[in-house]
Amino acid sequence: MLDLAIIGGGPAGLTAGLYATRGGLQNVTMFEKGMPGGQITQSSEIENYPGQLEVVTGMALMEKWPEQCQRFGLKHDMSEVKQVTKSDDIFTLTLEGDKKVEAKSVLIATGSVPKAAGVKGETEFFGRGVSTCATCDGFFYKNRDVAVIGGGDTAIEEAIFLANICKKVYVIHRRDTFRAAPHEVEKMKAYENIELVLNHTTEEIIGDNMGVTGVIVKSKDTEELKTLDVMGAFIFVGRDVLNQTLIQENGEFLCDVNESGEVIVDLKMNTSVPGLFAAGDIRIEAPKQVVCAAGDGAIVGIGAIAYLQ
Ligand code: FAD
Ligand code: NAP
Repeated sequence: MLDLAIIGGGPAGLTAGLYATRGGLQNVTMFEKGMPGGQITQSSEIENYPGQLEVVTGMALMEKWPEQCQRFGLKHDMSEVKQVTKSDDIFTLTLEGDKKVEAKSVLIATGSVPKAAGVKGETEFFGRGVSTCATCDGFFYKNRDVAVIGGGDTAIEEAIFLANICKKVYVIHRRDTFRAAPHEVEKMKAYENIELVLNHTTEEIIGDNMGVTGVIVKSKDTEELKTLDVMGAFIFVGRDVLNQTLIQENGEFLCDVNESGEVIVDLKMNTSVPGLFAAGDIRIEAPKQVVCAAGDGAIVGIGAIAYLQ
């Protein structure tokens, strides 16, 4: 039986693992379905992690985190957790292949996944010109024209990343002001090969057998339609939390969640179920920053030790 089962190996899960094992818990396993590191490994640059002076890729930032945790005894099981249930004081994790693992306490730190924009052609051309990861796919569009859809921090940062590779980057945003941080917007405006298509909705992503050939946009002022000839469409319209593991046989969540499905926690990252913690992007009011997810994880590592005592 595990002392602590950690679901998700992003900044929150890894830091919880570090604090729990270094704090003396002997039997802690982190279930991470892929390589540890989390969603930041898809980012082309991070410049706001404290103490990290050079601008590095998300992959480079996270590289040493798993090794540091393993030094104190954190185990990594590369499995997807399908469901968490609780009976009496014991949690049961159901893994892929219906394997069961029991734990005295559980941290859910599964983060989030990219939201779909709900645009015609988005699903049809996904992986054939439509992407949600500039670091992964930007290189395929070297010296080509691409479109970025969205107006948040991710859209603007990734548009800048793409502008350094591609010939031209259209940034399509449904309003005329950005949600992204002002300094990032200013940085973007300095790029001559970024063209802003503001106050426009994306109507359709079009293509042929080879993949995407264009994006049709509509002006919200004039309702005029125009086609942007691009080979790639990068969609960055926010993220959905991954809370499916908490759904029980009766369709209800194991613990309290809000209307967006974010897990409700107190300042110690306790959920409404004793022994079940939530940390990082999945929790309510998450600032959605690496440093905050790591901070949450540290609180859980300490809190899990106290709970087990
Ligand atoms: P995540 O990092 O999402 O990690 C969750 C992990 O859980 C994933 O590895 C996933 O594979 C795993 N998982 C999910 N479900 C299961 C399951 N059922 N079983 C097993 N494993 C599972 N933040 C900053 O501070 N600065 C930035 O500059 C910045 N830039 C960003 C750029 C991009 C492109 C993106 C996408 C995000 C950026 N962020 C940035 C936000 C930051 O990445 C997140 O706030 C942070 O990663 C959240 O950490 P987390 O541990 O909560 O979740
Ligand atoms: P976000 O902040 O939620 O922004 C999503 C953007 O997409 C918004 O501009 C939104 O428009 C637009 N949008 C939403 N649905 C759309 C649709 N269906 N069609 C067209 N446009 C749509 O998401 P994010 O940029 O992924 O950022 C997520 C979180 O991570 C944020 O808290 C962000 O601050 C953080 N983050 C931080 C950094 C950093 O610190 N450097 C980097 C990346 C992300 P509206 O503005 O009109 O709503």
